[in-house]
Amino acid sequence: MRVERRSLEERVRLIVERLLEWYRDEPWWRREKAEPLRVMLSILLSNRSNRRVVRRVVAELLERYPRLEDMLGDPDGVRKALQPLGLAALRARAVLGLARLLAETGGVESFLGLPAEEARRRLLTIPGVGEKTADVLLMALWDADVFPVDTHIARIASRLGLVEPGARPEQVRRLLEPLIPRGLRARAHLAMIQLGREVCRPRRPRCSECPLRGLCSFPRGTEAG
Ligand code: SF4
Repeated sequence: MRVERRSLEERVRLIVERLLEWYRDEPWWRREKAEPLRVMLSILLSNRSNRRVVRRVVAELLERYPRLEDMLGDPDGVRKALQPLGLAALRARAVLGLARLLAETGGVESFLGLPAEEARRRLLTIPGVGEKTADVLLMALWDADVFPVDTHIARIASRLGLVEPGARPEQVRRLLEPLIPRGLRARAHLAMIQLGREVCRPRRPRCSECPLRGLCSFPRGTEAG
């Protein structure tokens, strides 16, 4: 069957099925849920970062400031600790924004006790935290059944022909989230991010190794399938 004839819903179902066969890891935050601060910082610092460096920087931050609120008295120290990740000033604004939010809410436990919608509203007030980061935090810490879309996922969706070229991540999320079965959205999100990093890279995608070849309308993807 040619890819164009399949309904969007059927194509998304097949894509998710293949992706989850290819990427079987459980979401990493389930192993670390007992340490919500570690999860929060890791997500906040994950954009354009090397994961190993993020892990190291987060460990150092938590050792130095076991209560995130303690960072508020040492903004220069926070900036310095973030330097290995680059963009230290921007990242420090986000981390200090989270620390301030937790302090205002009465600490991490009180914050996690907020309803997801209220937590989302407050997370979006942190400098540098957009819809995608807020949704990943909700997915990890509130078990929200959402499908956050970053630039990797938007690019793959466009190459697959699911959305118009150049569609913005938020448009892609609105279209795809309801089509991905409940309970599979977190794993589908992580699988697509992994695909974007390893296979469907921004330049020179490795279509011949892609689990989605044959379902893809990108010229090389079609050739490879
Ligand atoms: S077949 Fe190629 S373009 Fe299509 S999703 Fe896979 S790597 Fe990306």
